[in-house]
Amino acid sequence: MSYLKIEYEIVPTESFCVIRGCSGCGRKTHFRNTQKFRVNANGNRVDVWLIYQCEHCKHTLNLAVYERQKVSSVPKAEYESFLSNDAQLAQQYGKTLSLFQKNKAAVDFERMNYSYVKLHETIQHSGSDKSMELTIHNPCGLKIRPEKQIADVLGLSRSQVKKRMAQGEILVDETDFGKLHFYSPHCIM
Ligand SMILES: [Zn+2]
Repeated sequence: MSYLKIEYEIVPTESFCVIRGCSGCGRKTHFRNTQKFRVNANGNRVDVWLIYQCEHCKHTLNLAVYERQKVSSVPKAEYESFLSNDAQLAQQYGKTLSLFQKNKAAVDFERMNYSYVKLHETIQHSGSDKSMELTIHNPCGLKIRPEKQIADVLGLSRSQVKKRMAQGEILVDETDFGKLHFYSPHCIM
């Protein structure tokens, strides 16, 4: 019996988008990453914010990265990157869910773009029967239905996945916020 085991991770491909009421244009709207930081040094303490902006009226929303932090405890290279508005660092913070939670900024998971990154793949060969086992890690807790995740990684449609689930060709044995685990008695990739 040969056996295929694959693990994927769902990775956001762009900064999270914040949904909230805007005091500038007075409606519920989306705020996007401007990829700019604001740094305010006062004595030996520093505040650093990642600046988000309303997509309609450009009203800003500052997400605190550091608050009243000792300058000496901020890595020098990172501090330089804040001052030069390093786009890569801004995007990295824009995909850090804990930053949004800390700032009580609601992320719009419906608008999320993401991809599946294969972490590893193991194949054990013996005989002609084939089975497979897949795990999809979702460390950011993106709200994607299990059938959709399975369809995406197997390259099937959602209706094909539902049919195979009903036929016992795809068996989901674990599904929670951070992980989806399923297997099949046949290799269907
Ligand atoms: Zn606005």
